[in-house]
Amino acid sequence: MPDPDPLLDLAPVLDHDVVVVGAGPVGLLLACLLAQDGIDVVICERRRGEDRRSRAIGIHPPGLDALEHAGVATAFRTEALALHGGDVLSRGRVLASLDFPEGRRVLVVPQQRTHALLRERLGALSATALRSGCTARGIRDEGRFVRVTVDADQGRRELTAAFVVIADGVHSGFRRELGMGWDRRPGRAVHTMLDVDDPAAGTRALLHCEPDGLVESFPLPGARRRWVLRGDRDGVAEGFRTAVAERIGTDPDIPDDARPTAFVAAQHRARTVVRGRTALLGDAAHEISPIGGQGMNLGWLDADRLASAIRIALTHGSSDLREYARRVPRSARAAQARAAFYMAMGAPARGLPLHAREALIRALGSAPLGEWSAGLVTMGGL
Ligand SMILES: Cc1cc2nc3c(=O)[nH]c(=O)nc-3n(C[C@H](O)[C@H](O)[C@H](O)COP(=O)(O)OP(=O)(O)OC[C@H]3O[C@@H](n4cnc5c(N)ncnc54)[C@H](O)[C@@H]3O)c2cc1C
Repeated sequence: MPDPDPLLDLAPVLDHDVVVVGAGPVGLLLACLLAQDGIDVVICERRRGEDRRSRAIGIHPPGLDALEHAGVATAFRTEALALHGGDVLSRGRVLASLDFPEGRRVLVVPQQRTHALLRERLGALSATALRSGCTARGIRDEGRFVRVTVDADQGRRELTAAFVVIADGVHSGFRRELGMGWDRRPGRAVHTMLDVDDPAAGTRALLHCEPDGLVESFPLPGARRRWVLRGDRDGVAEGFRTAVAERIGTDPDIPDDARPTAFVAAQHRARTVVRGRTALLGDAAHEISPIGGQGMNLGWLDADRLASAIRIALTHGSSDLREYARRVPRSARAAQARAAFYMAMGAPARGLPLHAREALIRALGSAPLGEWSAGLVTMGGL
């Protein structure tokens, strides 16, 4: 007779199958995928209200596939603005035009709405899975299960589970505490962004790779537009508007009371994403520069992989997440290489480097390479 499985022995006495720390877009999607399979998951989120930060807007086809697996893609399609393509410009000339065919369009949804749609879906799958105002304070791997200490309305308590997933964002306290490493990768620069009303926003993104640095302009749903500018113009509408106008040669419609926000686009990767029964997920596992808009989408692809790995492990009573641990760094490496390339294309440049860059962008947008480039931009192959 084979030995009885240690986890199957314990399953009835554990509080949950999985505890997820952090209800950002990535932790939420993982919770949806697990709950949909009948896995007992709780997700602890220290915030009580909404996360109002304006961050991700682009949902690439592989990200949409992950949403599809969680049964929520239709809700996203209904709200989204579908980007039909993008144009890359420099010094007043269009260097490349990429078209996203039907079925491979990038969907644009502000991150606050993404949170709301995922929370709604999770609520429909399990009314008790999401614990808002619940801060995880400690994680202890006991070998056969994991113990998570949380502070919530009822005070401090311990939850036991077969697995814990750390999805607590780029500044992850648990990644540090568990010594999972955080290595800086190439690609770092300050940018400033601003979302404004624009009734003529259209359905194409414009990327100006100018001598003084990048200006991006993306249509948003609800007749709005996002501007992103390389450089720090935090808080001052006038300085932001002047910098955009000087770089692209036309005056953008930006009201005086607009408040642009600066952010550092940077890249890091955790040295390891699995330790025993604990897995890192999303920005806690890798920071991908927002230039290229892949961070949340990559987190969703990882969530899909992790949900499968956990499902199989629970079925067999094992703790084996090795396949997940192998795949995450591989796709993060590829996404970071692409993002570093996009950032190089948007760096200030003059003279020969500028001419070389313009020639390269023209080549990438030309007939033989255009389809391949559009595939890369929309996260093909990740
Ligand atoms: C300007 C900008 C634009 C971007 N644009 C795009 C884009 O277009 N496309 C794209 O794919 N990505 C984009 N990104 C990246 C994207 O925003 C992130 O990749 C994404 O938010 C990561 O989600 P997450 O769930 O891993 O982490 P987060 O969204 O950071 O969520 C982590 C959650 O954990 C909670 N938490 C932390 N500690 C604890 C604790 N101890 N206990 C309980 N809860 C805790 C936090 O309150 C938070 O809610 C952009 C980022 C920026 C800055």
